[in-house]
Amino acid sequence: MEIKKFTLLGKMAKNTDNKRIAVKHVRDKAKSAYEKKDHCHICGTGQDLELHHTHSITLLLNLWSQRKGYDISTDTGILAVRDEFIQEHHKEIYDDVYTLCNPHHVQLHGVYGKAPALGTAQKQSSWIEKQRAKCAGEVAEKKPTNFGSFAKFY
Ligand SMILES: [Zn+2]
Ligand SMILES: [Zn+2]
Repeated sequence: MEIKKFTLLGKMAKNTDNKRIAVKHVRDKAKSAYEKKDHCHICGTGQDLELHHTHSITLLLNLWSQRKGYDISTDTGILAVRDEFIQEHHKEIYDDVYTLCNPHHVQLHGVYGKAPALGTAQKQSSWIEKQRAKCAGEVAEKKPTNFGSFAKFY
């Protein structure tokens, strides 16, 4: 495969494109089983609803295919292992999902980035629950501390 080293740059660019396509293949397959709720988990609106995975499917797929040594840079490559990926990530794909309205979805990614690091899944859930509590006008689980008796006067 002499040609490989000469086309490395081109191949890398191509791989990036194809990885995006690979995720799309996974989403297409898994979509039918997604349970999109009829309201935003945070504010309860029924408009502009989107699904948010607390585990970035893109990052999961890239990590997984690298670990397994799978080539997902082609349609054939990803289609051959797609079911296996979905099977091994059932919780991340189907359970660790929130229905959010577009503004709250955008807000979350503003805090955690476009593809949130996989280690932040728990933090994202806490963040979502905190926003939900705020919207409901409830007191967030964490009581303000060190305000002492002044708290009631502001
Ligand atoms: Zn919302
Ligand atoms: Zn999202």
